[in-house]
Amino acid sequence: MEMTVVLIKPDAVAMGFTESIINRYVAAGLRVSARGTYRMTADEAKQFYAEHKGRFYFAALVLAMTSGPIEVLFLEGENAVQLVRNMNGATDPSKAAPGTIRHDFRSVGGPFNTVHASDSLASASRERTLFRSW
Ligand code: ADP
Ligand code: MG
Repeated sequence: MEMTVVLIKPDAVAMGFTESIINRYVAAGLRVSARGTYRMTADEAKQFYAEHKGRFYFAALVLAMTSGPIEVLFLEGENAVQLVRNMNGATDPSKAAPGTIRHDFRSVGGPFNTVHASDSLASASRERTLFRSW
């Protein structure tokens, strides 16, 4: 059984997609072990996305993540990390396949790409620890 961290990003929360997105994960057999609404500070967003520091989009990403409330989900299930990455689709929503969350709940693009999901078990553990400490 794996655990992964999903963030429903401010764009998707503002567009009212939260419950529809959660329903997709539940319909795929995942269990929501914890959830909550959270408002990230700039320092928290920089820490969360630390591995992207120096990329051209870093400042825009921090602005996007702090632009409004997010919904934090801890999801559990078999192969949860890869399953959720597949369900979310490509990072660039204009390249995400129909049926994926980033395609079907698409907003403005760039850093506003609807959802975040952990990319490995190690990332999931790190991200869970961050949110538990905030
Ligand atoms: P993913 O979220 O699919 O794991 P990355 O780890 O590559 O994608 O990037 C983290 C986040 O940074 C993305 O979800 C997106 O919000 C933002 N981002 C990545 N690449 C770009 C880009 N070329 N332009 C704007 N924002 C980007
Ligand atoms: Mg990533």
